Amino acid sequence: MQEKINNNILPDKNGFYGNYGGQYITEELKEEFDRIEKAFLEAKEDETFKNELNYLLKNYVGRPSPIFYAKNLSEKYNNNIYLKREDLNHTGAHKINHCLGEVLLAKRMGKKKVIAETGAGQHGVALATAAALLGLECDIYMGEVDVEKEKPNVERMRILNANVIPVKSGSKTLKEAVDEAFVAYIKSYKDTMYAIGSVVGPHPFPMIVEYFQSVVGSEAREQFIEQTGDLPDIIIACVGGGSNSIGLFSGFLNDENVKIYGVEPLGKGTKLGENAASITYGKDGILHGFKCKLLQDENGNVANAYSVASGLDYPGVGPKHCFLNDIKRVNYVTVNDIEAVNAFYELSQKEGIIPALESSHALAYALKLSESVKNKNILVNLSGRGDKDIAFVLDKFPKV
Ligand SMILES: *Cc1c(COP(=O)(O)O)cnc(C)c1O
Repeated sequence: MQEKINNNILPDKNGFYGNYGGQYITEELKEEFDRIEKAFLEAKEDETFKNELNYLLKNYVGRPSPIFYAKNLSEKYNNNIYLKREDLNHTGAHKINHCLGEVLLAKRMGKKKVIAETGAGQHGVALATAAALLGLECDIYMGEVDVEKEKPNVERMRILNANVIPVKSGSKTLKEAVDEAFVAYIKSYKDTMYAIGSVVGPHPFPMIVEYFQSVVGSEAREQFIEQTGDLPDIIIACVGGGSNSIGLFSGFLNDENVKIYGVEPLGKGTKLGENAASITYGKDGILHGFKCKLLQDENGNVANAYSVASGLDYPGVGPKHCFLNDIKRVNYVTVNDIEAVNAFYELSQKEGIIPALESSHALAYALKLSESVKNKNILVNLSGRGDKDIAFVLDKFPKV
């Protein structure tokens, strides 16, 4: 089923996309994950479920998010640069798309609570928001380093009545937060649903999160054709776990003439521990119950991932991205901290849009590409807004 590229590359019956994905979990948990898969497959065909989700996406999130032609940047860089404005969603990023879906699914399964990890705090805020709206309890695990760095999001989660649990082990960032959230989940899955923050984790989570994010790509394809009369030449999105990118890409995988770039964070450099570019520098490995390209040392220990953008610093990456890399449908490239921060300022000052540092990676690659590519229609996924990063950027990277 995976020989052909289409908009619905689904995992095989064991949850694999080519060599990646799967379910490296206990038998007990497998049974629960089978129940989740079954509930999901039923829900997505159920008119009541679909209507409720679509109602919320439209009237609560504010979808469809527009596509904006960035004229000033386009003139400067000699390409037509368009932005898919996921930053305008309620809660300021694409993550609300899958959080609403996950919480609706949890509710449908009769769960009382959702549990999750968060890096930049964006997933935590989006999930806490969806849980508040739909009346479920919410526990969020977050590395202590990120709790410090992303204070406004921590405060938001607490106002929304989520229980924020700081994680003090290891590098005190996203990877450890996933570890601890998973341990807590295993103890409580009977009345709790894991609401993962990206297209990662054991099957069926990558498939479920992709489904809820595919609205980005299907909207974008239609909007782009409506605005320009044609498809984009190039589409670009940043890749952390890979949810905003897979959401956008899913609308265009069939369009062979659309060049696709996934941008990984190069952080401070190419050495182990300096970046979070899992596809570019990782080797096959298993983390958090699934197989993917994974940053690891020569002994196979999982490396600490680093990026200036907390939402990107995860040592693994979604299995479908690893597959799309293998079949060369998507080009995975890198952008470092400085290039991302420069793009952050560039978009702010040329277009009056302050992007998230994560999204700045995608834009930075469009600007970099413009050194060699001219007069193309480029669509960049602006996955989130930068309010959460303002204090940090001004402190660490003041514009001189
Ligand atoms: C979390 C986040 C990302 C990275 O996550 P993906 O799953 O790779 O999309 C990117 N941009 C923003 C704004 C985020 O909050």
